[in-house]
Amino acid sequence: RAKHAGRSTFAWYTPDMDADAQKRKEIEAGLAKALKFDQFELLFQPQYSLSDNKLKAYESLIRWNHPTKGYIAPDVFIPIAEDCGLISSIGDWVLEQACREASTWKDPALRVAVNVSAAQFLSGDTVHKVAHALQTSGLAAERLEIEITESLLISNTEKVVETLNKIRDMGVSIAMDDFGTGYSSLSYLSKFPFDKIKIDRSFIHNLGQDASTDAIVTSIIGLGRSLDVTITAEGVENQEQVTLLRAAGCNLVQGFLYGRPDTVQSHERLMAERDAKRTRNDHSFKVKD
Ligand code: C2E
Ligand code: MG
Ligand code: MG
Ligand code: MG
Repeated sequence: RAKHAGRSTFAWYTPDMDADAQKRKEIEAGLAKALKFDQFELLFQPQYSLSDNKLKAYESLIRWNHPTKGYIAPDVFIPIAEDCGLISSIGDWVLEQACREASTWKDPALRVAVNVSAAQFLSGDTVHKVAHALQTSGLAAERLEIEITESLLISNTEKVVETLNKIRDMGVSIAMDDFGTGYSSLSYLSKFPFDKIKIDRSFIHNLGQDASTDAIVTSIIGLGRSLDVTITAEGVENQEQVTLLRAAGCNLVQGFLYGRPDTVQSHERLMAERDAKRTRNDHSFKVKD
């Protein structure tokens, strides 16, 4: 073991790495069981239109409800699932579950966005899987949106474009998630068929704080308008950001200001309470008048 090795060897090795490797192994073993024992859950985060302040869609976000460790975030286990090959079956479950749930929503115009990681997208017959999820749930294709990230676009361009086009031909739309991070390149925008761009929340976080961020966000929105691509801002947390995004012509907003990832029932309860409050205020205003 490195710990007992001579002074000159494995100087880079630390007990932390031991702990990390151990944790990874545990997660890997746990993930294999998680599907079987139904430990995954989907939460939903609302997306609002800036032009009319209306709820337009929910993004589905996976959570792992671990029997002893509690809730584990996707940033922790999705990369591991990608490495050990489990992402494909987890992704299948997400797609089926998101479509099934969306098909039960009261408002038949609400759309659902599903994250599909690059490893998952490249690992199997994505076109067939999307078609299957739509067919078994009865969800209209126009209500489904697939979110992909830039990491998908660095490999096998032709195959990826072909698959994206087949998915779009069904009526499903494609969103580029976390735009502006990673391997970001403007040439992707002309090479790949996107319906929507989601500006990464790291940019939104600095909006109004730093002139160069403001300029970048404004340019992405302008680019989206000229390419006829819908722009969503993610990670919107305060009103100042909303004001700047609206002035720049951003289409959709998503973030803690509008709602955290939660069950759709909880969001509906909150919206009903907000409506009731508004009605009460209107009423007392009329009485006073
Ligand atoms: P993402 O797709 O970019 O999702 C947005 C993330 O930002 C979510 O984190 C959400 O909770 C968080 N967020 C939303 N609004 C705010 C805000 O106002 N402030 C801050 N600080 N954060 C906000 P979450 O749910 O932990 O998901 C993290 C990432 O994990 C997602 O990023 C996505 O890449 C991945 N992921 C989530 N669910 C799935 C899934 O079902 N399949 C795959 N392949 N990946 C998923
Ligand atoms: Mg996403
Ligand atoms: Mg994102
Ligand atoms: Mg992300």
